[in-house]
Amino acid sequence: MTATDESVEPPTLTGDDVLRIDDADFAAGRVALVTGAASGIGRATSLVLAANGLTVVATDVDEDGLAETRDRGDELDFPGDIHPEPADLTDDEHLESVVDAAAGYGDLAYLANVAGMQHISPLDEFPMEVYDRMQDVMLRAPVYLSKLVLPHLRDSGGGSVGNMASVHGHYVTADKVAYNVAKFGLRGLTQSIAAEGAGTVRSFSVSTGYVKTPLVTDQIPDTAEQRGISVQEVVEDVMLGQSRTKEMMEPVDVGNLFAFGFSKHATHLNGGDLLFDGGMTLTYE
Ligand code: NAD
Repeated sequence: MTATDESVEPPTLTGDDVLRIDDADFAAGRVALVTGAASGIGRATSLVLAANGLTVVATDVDEDGLAETRDRGDELDFPGDIHPEPADLTDDEHLESVVDAAAGYGDLAYLANVAGMQHISPLDEFPMEVYDRMQDVMLRAPVYLSKLVLPHLRDSGGGSVGNMASVHGHYVTADKVAYNVAKFGLRGLTQSIAAEGAGTVRSFSVSTGYVKTPLVTDQIPDTAEQRGISVQEVVEDVMLGQSRTKEMMEPVDVGNLFAFGFSKHATHLNGGDLLFDGGMTLTYE
């Protein structure tokens, strides 16, 4: 068997690993808007929030993926409904209509900014149009969405914004300048919301290492081939090499962090970061 014969598949979310939180605010009358909801972490976050009884407005450019997210919530018979609202995060009018649509389903109380993308290139060759697009999707859209939802979050009597950062919001790797800048920026947005939330609106960021999503698992066989090592070695030595926890995180684990961050148990999480990196950035060999 060659290295490329092996693969790591993104898991399908079942109800078993979902964190269920007893919170009176997790009810159908309260709405969570989730971006990047057609895939990976955004899909898992939508499903976890629906499992906790919230009404979820799921947005993404990928309409088919959004429908699959909704269908998975139906299959699992989760109490909260998932409403797909396709939108391109680079288009301000789309952002405005998605927020209007979300507010139409009840008290818009939570925003999860999850959508993202990656581009690998040295700084001196980094294409500026790619840089601009990544900032639009990963930083400008979260800022504008936060601005648009803020009055709703205040009116809901207490809401919060969760931003998907990364270990790359703490330290960087080479050849990922647009990603690094966006993730550091999201932590600035998080702290700005907390500073202006006046105790009514909270914000937090979530920082993880590698998570088993298509974005990551699709690259593993190629990396194995390029380096002449096995798929298992890519996972253990390349991806988890600096991590003390030698197991990749699953999307549901990240969705659970958003649910916790939005819950009453996270009242004192206000501007802070949930660093769940398996020890990657805080230990040194
Ligand atoms: P993914 O590729 O599975 O999902 C990203 C989603 O964003 C896709 O559904 C895509 O259609 C959507 N998107 C991209 N451009 C868009 C646009 N213009 N408008 C609307 N939607 C758009 O990726 P993922 O692994 O689930 O990553 C989600 C987030 O988590 C990203 O912000 C990523 O940086 C972050 N993150 C991922 C990992 C990881 O290992 N997977 C680790 C740390 C942080």
